[in-house]
Amino acid sequence: MSKLISRNPATGAVLRELDVTPRESLSEIFARARDAQRLWAQKSLKDRASVLLDIRETLISQADELIETLVQENGKPRLEALANEVTPCVDLLTYYAKIAPKSLRDQKIPGRLMRHRKSYLNYWPLGVVLVISPWNYPLLLPFGDIVMAVVSGNAVVFKPSEITPLIGLKIQELCDRSGVPRGLVQTVIGDGTLGAALIEEKPNKIFFTGSVSTGKKVMAAAANHLIPVNLELGGKDPMIIMPDADLEFATSAALWGSFSNSGQVCASTERILVHESIREPFLKKFAEKAAKLRQGAPSLLEENVDLGAVTMDKQKDVYDSQMAHARGKGAEFLSGGQFSEDRRFLAPTIVTGKDIESLPIYNEESFGPVVAVTTFNSVEDAITKANRSRYGLLASIIARNTGLAEKMAKQIEAGSVLINEVTYTAGLSETPWGGVKDSGFGRTHAEMGLQEFVNVRHIHRPRAGFTFFKAPWWFPYSSYQYATFKCLLEVYRKSWIAKLRAIPHLAWNFVQMLKNERRL
Ligand code: NAD
Repeated sequence: MSKLISRNPATGAVLRELDVTPRESLSEIFARARDAQRLWAQKSLKDRASVLLDIRETLISQADELIETLVQENGKPRLEALANEVTPCVDLLTYYAKIAPKSLRDQKIPGRLMRHRKSYLNYWPLGVVLVISPWNYPLLLPFGDIVMAVVSGNAVVFKPSEITPLIGLKIQELCDRSGVPRGLVQTVIGDGTLGAALIEEKPNKIFFTGSVSTGKKVMAAAANHLIPVNLELGGKDPMIIMPDADLEFATSAALWGSFSNSGQVCASTERILVHESIREPFLKKFAEKAAKLRQGAPSLLEENVDLGAVTMDKQKDVYDSQMAHARGKGAEFLSGGQFSEDRRFLAPTIVTGKDIESLPIYNEESFGPVVAVTTFNSVEDAITKANRSRYGLLASIIARNTGLAEKMAKQIEAGSVLINEVTYTAGLSETPWGGVKDSGFGRTHAEMGLQEFVNVRHIHRPRAGFTFFKAPWWFPYSSYQYATFKCLLEVYRKSWIAKLRAIPHLAWNFVQMLKNERRL
């Protein structure tokens, strides 16, 4: 059986060696999931929601263990593990336990033409969904999908990233200890080849979070079986700093936006567009603050660092290549640009220069503690530059004039635009999260996210039980039917006189149609 090694990225220490889930066991895993799902879907929404509250109890009790695993396997500071992973998960459980029973119950559609009939939407689970997740928020990202899937009556096969399998197993443990039926949530361990094999088991939908290149492969493989996909992909998020911005506030926002989780955030601030009139003081203060951030191996006992390790070795090649190219083109490094001696940490890196906008470090996702800065000279220029990207996940605007910022927000091509805030709404339960352009499609969180986990069935029926009127468009056709529809068109006219004129003709033809109805 092949093995997968989980390591602490801040020290290189081996945490555990795990067995990779054998390819041959996947059909059995899916069969178990399908059996569990059939029974689970029969439970009431209220019962399913109450299991979320049981998971919440277990999660709160196990918070310390989870934080420890997050710190050790992901290399992130303790506070980030608690505030940006564990806490939003507790909130997600609370939110969906509350809203799912209401959101997923039958929804009336107000009648218009067919007032003698009624229509409503009836939601039903998809079946078995596949959740494939990355390593940067290894708890929060898959957890949201799992919670939404379970409450809406689905079973889940979950593949955590091969970089953070222990956190994946912690999620499994949470479910197992909280009364989630056996087989309803199953975690499999392995890398991308296992991910690809899972798609061949024909899940009912795939919830993929990861890079654009893998997202394309997942979508292509899913297309072979017509499996719907949700893709939460990368970003190169801009932060626009308006000329009226408070510099103290703006630099703090830029600092957290660019360097929290060591910049390994899909919605990290990777491009800063600062108004040319405040470029110098902004950059000076920003670089000074970056130099004061404490970086190192996070302790399990105290807040000793602000920036943890680079979690994935492969990503270091991306930083190397982007930084070397930028240096070659004469870009100016205002801070960072250097790895620690053991190459486990990259110092917070701010890069700028007159040609910066043409460089990969400004245009391609870095996914690390690297931010490229340019300037703009007008509102239009800021919007054009913000939109000049293949990505569209999130953008932020820092400004005192929030009215203007809001007008600008409506012109930015992104899934979220935050004014005087940055990045954090990925952790909010009640607001939708997702991208446009190469950042993917579909939404997670909020009521909108929940809808991604259900099929919708439109049910249409007469208000009363009678069936003696046949519909005016049924066989056999008559000239009264034709005339009725012709009059109906007139009723749609803008002019009230035309409408009023048409109504008696419509009524007369309708009555004639009923009176002269021929039976076949
Ligand atoms: P990745 O694409 O390398 O891997 C993501 C997952 O896909 C892993 O579990 C991996 O094993 C699996 N995988 C790899 N090849 C596969 C295949 N052929 N078929 C099926 N599964 C396969 O991404 P990563 O390095 O883990 O994560 C970093 C990327 O994720 C960044 O681009 C980041 O922006 C993005 N991300 C996006 C969001 C979002 O909400 N939009 C959130 C977090 C991360």
